[in-house]
Amino acid sequence: MSRDFRLSKSKIMAGVQCRRRLWLETHRRDLARVSPASEHIFRMGHLFGERARPLMGQGELIGHVLDVGKAIAETRVALKQASDRGSMVYEAAFSHRNVVARADGFAPYAGGWHMTEVKAANAVKDYFYQDCAIQAWVAEGAGYPVHKVTLACIESRFVYPGGGDYDGLLRCIDVTAEVDRRKAAVDDIVEDLRAVMSRGEPQIAAGSHCSSPYACPFMAHCGAHAADTRWVSRRSAHHATVGSPPALAYPRHFLWLEAIASPVPMWSGTRPYQRIPVQWSCLTETQPGTFIHRAFLDSFDAPSKDDFTRTLIDALGYDGAVIVATSVERAGLNALCESVPERRAELKALMRRLVYPTPGARMAHDVADAARCIEVTNSESAQRAWWEAASSATDRERRHRLADDLLCYGRQQTLSLHEAFSAHDARPSTD
Ligand code: SF4
Repeated sequence: MSRDFRLSKSKIMAGVQCRRRLWLETHRRDLARVSPASEHIFRMGHLFGERARPLMGQGELIGHVLDVGKAIAETRVALKQASDRGSMVYEAAFSHRNVVARADGFAPYAGGWHMTEVKAANAVKDYFYQDCAIQAWVAEGAGYPVHKVTLACIESRFVYPGGGDYDGLLRCIDVTAEVDRRKAAVDDIVEDLRAVMSRGEPQIAAGSHCSSPYACPFMAHCGAHAADTRWVSRRSAHHATVGSPPALAYPRHFLWLEAIASPVPMWSGTRPYQRIPVQWSCLTETQPGTFIHRAFLDSFDAPSKDDFTRTLIDALGYDGAVIVATSVERAGLNALCESVPERRAELKALMRRLVYPTPGARMAHDVADAARCIEVTNSESAQRAWWEAASSATDRERRHRLADDLLCYGRQQTLSLHEAFSAHDARPSTD
């Protein structure tokens, strides 16, 4: 006989992905190892969810993140008021058959309710329907018939005009029919999963399901290998470049940029998930063996395209080749052209000075300076560090530590680029 374990929407989704995962979530949570990539995806979802709320209309936000009982009680009152006023309730909490779920948005609609689920994604994925079906099943079981279900995703064509105006960022898709079709199966799924939780650990072998649709936090326990490639460093191909270096005059500028991507664009003229540069590091060799290093790390609170552009143009001046390792720098400069049109001509002139090392100029910086920069040792960890520092949950001391690491990493990148370039430059020509 199955015990009446409490379930949540995310536990059911975990169980649908893999029954062993659900069992481990319930009985051996201590074995979970949440990957930095998963944490980052969660952070982006949270960021987008917060921005989406004001776009969905006036409403009351239900708190009590850790106390579902209080959240459910508060939801009852809020829904009564929303029904009278025709307003929205955010994070509405429900319970049915000891399954709890929270709806991102819940509002009165056609004698019933309209449920909205927010997803920081450009396209609808199949598991979103399942997610909504579980939520609607719980809300209906709690006495709130769901007559319409909407997915609020990212409108990828949205271009941020600036000034906090995000009107148009959401793409709302009516998924009522598909969710209704799947709702009927939720009863059986819940029963089946409770049976799984009541028995011993299922012996399910690791496989492709361990990474899809979510990276499972029990991969180490099961001996699975992470297949989540979303965070593979885009700088892993530093040696894949073009051309031979011309005999360059001095000054020579060795430039490196780091960029971040956000579902909520931060600079005017940019789109969701478009990479925007937030840090640069430049090593200028004014004459053989004489160097000046300059760097800029954008504010974590409010990245400023103007400060970034001004300091970069000042550092690079108006002459000398700008040596870069990959196309990331060109893409970053292009983004600046869109966002800072008044400096477009200078940025375009700067782009004409870009020079790439040859295929032989291989860089090994992603690992070489790990000891010196402590936590930031590659592009992936640099982006994570930036987001962690930008979080309001990060304390001052930690923020300073991360900033130091980011600057250290940037400096090492330019030193490494110079080293790689010079090694090639010094080689006798075989032409
Ligand atoms: S690692 Fe794979 S097999 Fe193990 S619990 Fe997770 S999804 Fe299941």
